[in-house]
Amino acid sequence: MDSYDSSHFNTFGLDQPLPSFQKLKGEREQLPVTRNLNDFWDEFTKNDVLIVSGGTGSGKTTQIPQFVAYKAQEMNIRGRIACTQPRRLAAVKVAERVAQEAGCELGAQVGFKIRDDHKISEETQLIYMTDGSMVAQAFNDRNFSEYHTVFIDEAHECNNNIYILMALVRRAVKARVNSRSKLKVIVMSATISVNKFVDYFKDDAQVAQIHMPGITHKVDLLYLGETPRHTSSQPHQQSDPEPNIGHIVEEACRIVAKIVRNQFPTGNILVFMPGVIEVEMACQRIRKSIGEVDVISLYSAQSGAAQNAIFRSSTERRQCIVSTNIAETSITIPDIVYVIDTGIEKVKRLMPRIGAFEVRPRPISKASANQRAGRCGRTRPGVCFRMYTEQDFERNLRDEPDVEIARDDVSAVYLKALAFGFAAATLPFIDLPPFENLAYANELLLDLGYINDQFQVTNAGKRAAQNPFEPNWTYAIDVAKVKYPHLAQHIVAIATICSSMHSIFAAAPARFMASSLASRAEFADPMSDLITELNALYAFETEEPKLPDDRELDQWCNRRFLNRLVMGKILLQRNSAVETMQIRFDEAPVALNSQDRENIRRILARTFFRNIAFRIPSSGGEVRYRTIHGNFEVIASQDSMLNTGGHPWVMYDTLNRARSNTYMTKVTHVEPEWIADLPFFQDDRMKKNYHGNIVQKRVKEALDKAREP
Ligand code: ADP
Ligand code: MG
Repeated sequence: MDSYDSSHFNTFGLDQPLPSFQKLKGEREQLPVTRNLNDFWDEFTKNDVLIVSGGTGSGKTTQIPQFVAYKAQEMNIRGRIACTQPRRLAAVKVAERVAQEAGCELGAQVGFKIRDDHKISEETQLIYMTDGSMVAQAFNDRNFSEYHTVFIDEAHECNNNIYILMALVRRAVKARVNSRSKLKVIVMSATISVNKFVDYFKDDAQVAQIHMPGITHKVDLLYLGETPRHTSSQPHQQSDPEPNIGHIVEEACRIVAKIVRNQFPTGNILVFMPGVIEVEMACQRIRKSIGEVDVISLYSAQSGAAQNAIFRSSTERRQCIVSTNIAETSITIPDIVYVIDTGIEKVKRLMPRIGAFEVRPRPISKASANQRAGRCGRTRPGVCFRMYTEQDFERNLRDEPDVEIARDDVSAVYLKALAFGFAAATLPFIDLPPFENLAYANELLLDLGYINDQFQVTNAGKRAAQNPFEPNWTYAIDVAKVKYPHLAQHIVAIATICSSMHSIFAAAPARFMASSLASRAEFADPMSDLITELNALYAFETEEPKLPDDRELDQWCNRRFLNRLVMGKILLQRNSAVETMQIRFDEAPVALNSQDRENIRRILARTFFRNIAFRIPSSGGEVRYRTIHGNFEVIASQDSMLNTGGHPWVMYDTLNRARSNTYMTKVTHVEPEWIADLPFFQDDRMKKNYHGNIVQKRVKEALDKAREP
């Protein structure tokens, strides 16, 4: 039963598609989605919004947008198609793949767009982009008028951008429903959370859902306790605060060895680790102890080249891919037969009362576990080793992952919603943040003057919502622009460093900690960890053109424990932020003089007035501080160059909570007179929140003391 018309494979009607078109056609014909395209089209034409669910690898992301492009061309529909992805890497990779399938050059009919890079031309009809850049675009075009169809892919991830996009498309569909150019929206998701999406749209649009069955071979689930060798290990439970990471890495490597050495027929192995550090630990271990496999690490901070290793169809040798949860949904790796699921993920959570973040390894959800298992068994039967018991799975794992909005700082997404004209009282998010987190965001935005006490966005807030940084960094950059315009570019660089998911200082194993810290001395600023990082970044920027040889550059970085890829990315992001925020930029080799450095600290003190702490007497050897906002006892984090407590007043980037201590990260010395005239001494609300009277007294004491002869 040939239920599809194979002419659609030549999506864009190219006379001479590149040879890759013919080459990949057979593979595309085999995909489950291809068989269902007619059903899809039926639903698509009857509805404004369609929720498409389906197993990973069934062809949703690559095939459906191409098919819509084909139909649109056939029906002479004007406009483009956008398909959003949560991760940059996925956006680029998918665009590359789809261009190959369609037989066009990347950037011709098929293109991509991510924050710092794009390949798009006049003729581009299908654009894969990050959901972040789609939101950014919406500030100039709220109704997505450039597009006839918008896909929101990987919607089950429910990240902050997805929430905003859902709200925007829901409104845009309604706005365009009676116009000549209707907007169609397709939400694509793994087979979880589907009803939630249908409910979200049903009052405003004609919505339906369609499921695309995937091909699935049998996947055997082997739980802990069912394979005799692992009975000794302790299951980790939800209540268990800190799973033993070293043990988990070791145990996972043992399973790899077992698969490779005996019992199990050939096939590639995919191991899920909680985080990047564990990925690296495991890779090292497997390389050292198991010679028979090619070991490949996979995480989002890697270079494209490193990740491409996965897609190069290898020789006879087995591949063992060790990944963070990036391989759970967004990257499909060919030919996995064995999955090893440690059952642990690392998540960051805001503790709104303290304003501190906590990163904790903890058990994944049932949905994630099933998603992980589903990564094998796609081409033939597979085996998934679950490093927890079946009872753990049934009783202790949550059904679905916690959405980001329920645990993170929501000030940026909240501000965006207000700036897009949604009301604070009726936030259009699919899931609402906990009240405390919302209160935290409210207060922060009020302090910065981005909203007023009626919860309405101010003009400054509207501008801030469009910037690529968190609200408080935007504020810092604005202060610099006004007071010290020539320093604004440095604040942008610092903001980029602080916004990066990964540190520019490479994570050093414990035994190298001392040398890693020593290597920072080269860049050290005695007054500020932030300026220290800035110095390191600028040193790299100066060195880069001098060492065009990749290996030398790597060596230069490795010797200093610097993370080359992270710095490369940060410089790109800095460049694009400088451009979009129209910051004065001096190319000249950067050397910050002492006046500049002091003024940078002044800017930080004035803008991060929420993040100031003063030293308090303490009995032990540890130097303790008290935050002026919230009045909590904190200490400087261990990798701060300033943790010796030489200065009575400091500002920090974030607070991290770990093992009953609260740590200040990226510390900078500030002077009390810089904050003496700040709003928390004037405004009643601020005075209360910031213990204004006490702080004022402290500041006065400090100033008096300084004035003593
Ligand atoms: P879904 O979105 O349903 O998870 P995709 O459309 O991403 O599925 O992938 C469909 C199939 O296309 C995959 O099973 C894989 O075989 C193939 N594929 C996708 N991306 C690539 C790639 N970059 N390289 C090789 N094959 C790929
Ligand atoms: Mg997909």
